[in-house]
Amino acid sequence: QGRGARRRITILGSTGSIGESTLSVLAHADGLGEADFEIEALTANRNVERLAEQAKKFKPKFVAVADESLGGDLKAALEGTGIETGAGAAAVEEAASRDADWVMAAIVGAAGLKPTLKAALRGADIALANKECLVCAGDVVTEAIREGGGALLPVDSEHNAIFQVFDFDQPDRVSRLILTASGGPFRTWTREAMLEATPAQAVAHPNWSMGAKISVDSATMMNKGLELIEAAHIFPVGHEQIEILVHPQSVIHSMVEYVDGSVLAQLGTPDMRTPIATTLAWPKRTPSPSAQLNFAEVAKLTFEAPDLHRFPALRLAREAIGAGGIMPAVLNAANEVAVAAFLAGGLKFLDIAAVSEQVLDRAGRLNGPARLSTLEEAMDADAQARRMAEECVAAKAAA
Ligand code: NAD
Ligand code: MG
Repeated sequence: QGRGARRRITILGSTGSIGESTLSVLAHADGLGEADFEIEALTANRNVERLAEQAKKFKPKFVAVADESLGGDLKAALEGTGIETGAGAAAVEEAASRDADWVMAAIVGAAGLKPTLKAALRGADIALANKECLVCAGDVVTEAIREGGGALLPVDSEHNAIFQVFDFDQPDRVSRLILTASGGPFRTWTREAMLEATPAQAVAHPNWSMGAKISVDSATMMNKGLELIEAAHIFPVGHEQIEILVHPQSVIHSMVEYVDGSVLAQLGTPDMRTPIATTLAWPKRTPSPSAQLNFAEVAKLTFEAPDLHRFPALRLAREAIGAGGIMPAVLNAANEVAVAAFLAGGLKFLDIAAVSEQVLDRAGRLNGPARLSTLEEAMDADAQARRMAEECVAAKAAA
């Protein structure tokens, strides 16, 4: 199935944490039989200045900014370079539709869904960082990748680890997937202290440097909940076979247990440039700028069971995938709204999960389809859940 050398590359969300790391891996990669990568397209949401800098350095054919009002600025910034520009959601989708062999899907949130689908249906290999699009419409996205004929290459470090040690020829010999979690910045905090946690404290992750939304998700552990749902879509196992284990050092990135008792793991320093390099070169290997693991310095690897009382998001994600249908999309949308409200100072930290739970409860009475089969069903569930979540956030603010 693998193809080796990648030539034409598109990065959706190139100005984000994963996007920047991808460009730094590209600048470092070699040994793929094709030292020069051609960049087809880069996209950003609003950061025109950084997008233009990247474009001047990496010379893509096309760049797009999602915020339509910034189209003029982008055009002006790239005047005379010969690089085509576009603005608005349709321009981001155009970037995804262009002829690249390998597309990094690194837009944050459900906003990445449509562009990712475009690239998938066209048959590009999809390096998938955007976990929300699998949570929101996993069946639709995996089906689109199958239909297009490209590979799904998981970028999320846990899924990338499992991908590297999963025996796809005998999935029935896998007994368990063990998803490791750092536990986030509040791993050792009391519930009372978490009540007053600020956005600055929530985004200060102990091991990883990431975008604001995923950092808050790590603090609530909703990130691990979303990853549970993501794993159930990527790997042919039931969600009951996926266990979450807190491992504060983030050295073991996840594990696969087989029926004979063998447990295979992938290890490394907590640096996204390693999983990104894996997806870029797959099925080969290419150097990445990540630091090597120094076992003597790490000295100790420890493990704990997750605390569902302080981190109810883990329970909510289990319930959502257990219920199936629209529920994971509902959970994802409610969480996106609640995290945005928390980051804006309009919601307490523990209310992020509370809002998600209220929206799941309300949506449970909606009677949606048992299995999502179209993009429209997913988008519809997403939109309804966002409205409900806005109401719940407003009610909390008024209380
Ligand atoms: P980020 O916030 O740093 O970057 C997000 C990117 O998406 C930016 O380029 C931004 O301009 C673009 N974007 C945002 N909203 C958009 C919209 N509405 N339309 C079009 N583009 C938009 O986020 P990140 O940390 O790089 O994470 C990206 C994705 O990768 C997320 O889904 C996250 O869960 C996943 N992920 C990130 C990490 C990490 O270490 N950062 C690890 C695993 C998975
Ligand atoms: Mg992860």
